[in-house]
Amino acid sequence: MAADLHSHTTASDGTLSPAELVGRARVAGLAFLGITDHDTVDGLPEAAAAARREGIGVVPGVELSTDATGREVHILGYYCRAEAGPLADLLAEMRAARRRRVEQIVERLRGAGVPVVMERVVALAGAGSAGRPHVARALVEQGLVRDVKDAFERYLGRGRPGYVPRRKLHPAEAVRRVRAAGGVPVLAHPGLMGDDVTLGELLAAGLQGIEVHYPEHRPRQVRKYARLAREYALIATGGSDFHGVGERRSDVATVTVSDAVVEQLREAARRNGGL
Ligand code: AMP
Ligand code: ZN
Ligand code: FE
Ligand code: FE
Repeated sequence: MAADLHSHTTASDGTLSPAELVGRARVAGLAFLGITDHDTVDGLPEAAAAARREGIGVVPGVELSTDATGREVHILGYYCRAEAGPLADLLAEMRAARRRRVEQIVERLRGAGVPVVMERVVALAGAGSAGRPHVARALVEQGLVRDVKDAFERYLGRGRPGYVPRRKLHPAEAVRRVRAAGGVPVLAHPGLMGDDVTLGELLAAGLQGIEVHYPEHRPRQVRKYARLAREYALIATGGSDFHGVGERRSDVATVTVSDAVVEQLREAARRNGGL
């Protein structure tokens, strides 16, 4: 019974709607799909309805974008009470900041002679949580770059002409906010962030899991994070971080964990007072 605990929909920067994503997960043979859109839980009701029809389980999640002294850190939160209350308010603020950031990115690019059109970026983001991938897709559409990867390398990555730093939410604060909403906080893809980012601080804030299995984690990184999980009694999660066909290397279900991990997350959420 396989579970992919990390994926994105059109509620943030994925290209499949929640229902389409759940359908793809069922075809791929998953028993459980975790949906973890950036700074929003708006895709979850549609996903839950589709999951009932398809006969698979949806693990409700969110991925919070945070910053630890200039390094980007993502915190996953599972089974959060986020439809209303302090976490919902924080997510709404983060989405508003995302909109402003995307506008600033477009202004910077235009100032640098890259005529990306704001209206296209807005249309691509729709009502969802806006982000750099939407700018990247507009650049592709307008023939200004080859593909999304090229857009990040030339214009959107750190240190590139369209780079705008994000609003500063500390990862430990994100962990506390997830816990306060009854959710289970998990450090996302630690292998992407350089070394051992403030793990001590995150543990003190109430971290309960670490994403051990991830498409871009090398075997030695998987071993290292599995060891850290045992050492600190953290739930060892994993997932594909699927964003859409052709957007990145990994498809849904290319990285999975056992359904026993879902049970561990559920049990932790029950103790925390989560969903
Ligand atoms: P943002 O949340 O607006 O800062 O955008 C970050 C998102 O862009 C990540 O979650 C990925 O989905 C995507 N991303 C980051 N780097 C790349 C890259 N090099 N190529 C393609 N997508 C990327
Ligand atoms: Zn993303
Ligand atoms: Fe992430
Ligand atoms: Fe992600």
